[in-house]
Amino acid sequence: MTVPTHSGIALSAREIHKSFGGKEVLKGISADVHKGEHIAIIGPSGSGKSTFIRCLNLLELPDAGTLDLQGERVFDADRRTSASSVRALRRRVGMVFQSFNLFATHTALENVALAQKLVLGRDKNAARKRAEEQLERVGLQDHMQKHPSQLSGGQQQRVAIARSLAMDPEVILFDEPTSAIDPEMRVEVLKVMKELAEAGMTMLMVTHEIQFAQQAADRVMFIADGEALATGTPQEMLVDPPHERIHRFVKAVS
Ligand code: ADP
Ligand code: MG
Repeated sequence: MTVPTHSGIALSAREIHKSFGGKEVLKGISADVHKGEHIAIIGPSGSGKSTFIRCLNLLELPDAGTLDLQGERVFDADRRTSASSVRALRRRVGMVFQSFNLFATHTALENVALAQKLVLGRDKNAARKRAEEQLERVGLQDHMQKHPSQLSGGQQQRVAIARSLAMDPEVILFDEPTSAIDPEMRVEVLKVMKELAEAGMTMLMVTHEIQFAQQAADRVMFIADGEALATGTPQEMLVDPPHERIHRFVKAVS
């Protein structure tokens, strides 16, 4: 077996700590996501999963710890963090939220084009072309001119995924992307995520969909009480869990 070299790591988080009002929510979580790798994060509600991935694109500022992208230090809690370095990191790390976060007053196409223009400075035509391509990629070619209220939850989430893809991120973070969607619409979002995984996108996904994690993840990380209790293959973590705690969790959500 070859040991992955540093250059093979897309995102490296070291010893991330975060407290809210004196309560330590993250107690030093580390993760290395290799290029093209898909990691699923599972764990009980309130254990710090969202806080952890929000720290990875600095939606929350870690109190301690470091972040590297492609071997380059992009955050160090011991150094001053400038607004421009936060923006630079967010350009490289995409995020898909549970609640879609689309602009209600904009069409699907405009939602996907907007950040490209504002953040990447792409001109109108290039942004539009890229938006059309990505909406097509997620199966929404017939819905580009619709507003979020005219779309199902599954369709809205696919717009949000297209918006993230259009920014050409090095990594995409997903925070329970299907949990606010009706069960019958979830499958279309999971299908898109599976296709992205197969296409080699680097993905870190908080999910309760155990079957999906089993199919799409290379590794599964279990977070409990602000700590990464264990990380392993889907087989190790989901079929034959190494801890009673994980076993109970997997049984409860399956
Ligand atoms: P999970 O995603 O695993 O359900 P979260 O990361 O959302 O867990 O939350 C972990 C803990 O941190 C919870 O106790 C939550 O109430 C708390 N928390 C999260 N965000 C904030 C915040 N902005 N302010 C205060 N407490 C927070
Ligand atoms: Mg959460």
